[in-house]
Amino acid sequence: MPERLGLPRETPLFERVALIGLGLIGSSIARAARHLNLARTIVAIDRDEATVARVRELKIADEATSDAAAGVKGADFVILCVPVGACGSVAEAIGANLAPGCIVSDVGSVKGSVVAQVQPHLPEGVHFVPAHPVAGTEHSGPDAGFSTLFFNRWCILTPPEGADEQAVERVRAFWSAMGSNVEVMTAQHHDLVLAITSHVPHLIAYNIVGTAADLETVTQSEVIKFSAGGFRDFTRIAASDPTMWRDVFLHNKEAVLEMLGRLNEDIALLARAIRWGEGDKLFDLFTRTRAIRRGIISEGQETAEPDFGRRRQGQ
Ligand code: NAP
Repeated sequence: MPERLGLPRETPLFERVALIGLGLIGSSIARAARHLNLARTIVAIDRDEATVARVRELKIADEATSDAAAGVKGADFVILCVPVGACGSVAEAIGANLAPGCIVSDVGSVKGSVVAQVQPHLPEGVHFVPAHPVAGTEHSGPDAGFSTLFFNRWCILTPPEGADEQAVERVRAFWSAMGSNVEVMTAQHHDLVLAITSHVPHLIAYNIVGTAADLETVTQSEVIKFSAGGFRDFTRIAASDPTMWRDVFLHNKEAVLEMLGRLNEDIALLARAIRWGEGDKLFDLFTRTRAIRRGIISEGQETAEPDFGRRRQGQ
């Protein structure tokens, strides 16, 4: 077990934490919460019986079930760890069984849509504090998770206006305990920021890998053979879960389209600079972008290793 997560708490933060969706994120939360004693009882809920069985084998939860409505009974903290597009139907299935005072949260990569989908199904007295851990890998499923996934990564909370402050503080404490740096912002702002820092980069990666696959003048074996020229790093991102990313784009449509519009304009300017031999323009941009990467490294959000820390994946 990695040392940097720290020692388990003497008293848990929550009595009964129900995690719905034991994929990469849900199973990472289970592992971290278990190691750190953040919950007296961890209930793992997954619609897939094979995942429920695997969770039992991995021993990352105290209870495991495929019945979401039954699993959330008596929970004081419920976290939806399912694709963004599934949050509404999951909330509908569990709503009636949520205890008064229970905190409901999620981990979705889009926030505005999740709030709109989930809120109508939550009874009076249940607090909703949406969250997005800005941490992940291209892997999916219960075996892909690891307890240090959230360590030194940001977790963004987007409590709706008038949210219960104590509930927000308890969710903050949960993520801080797992090593995350927590920031609070509106759902709308979150969706705009993430459109440019995460969603559009993924779209570009999916696009460039798709384009390379369709090329007729360069063979597939050449694409693979010479991938270290930059392509390889796009392929890692483009291997991300198709369901998750389909939902991200469908549910953050406006912000993604706004950022894509800006990107298209800037690409047209770059094409023009190349066409007219405007080397200074290219040099100036590449100098600015190099500084941005150095800033990310100095803030501890990336490694300076030439292999991009690839060997650390799956730790
Ligand atoms: P994952 O590994 O694919 O796990 C998703 C889980 O949700 C699986 O257990 C899956 O069960 C379940 N699920 C899928 N569709 C469902 C439905 N319609 N109803 C109920 N359960 C359903 O995905 P993940 O990477 O953990 O992502 C989970 C959430 O975290 C997403 O909202 C994503 O936006 C967010 N997130 C992901 C990352 C990342 O890098 N991966 C980072 C931050 C946040 P089945 O196996 O039966 O499909």
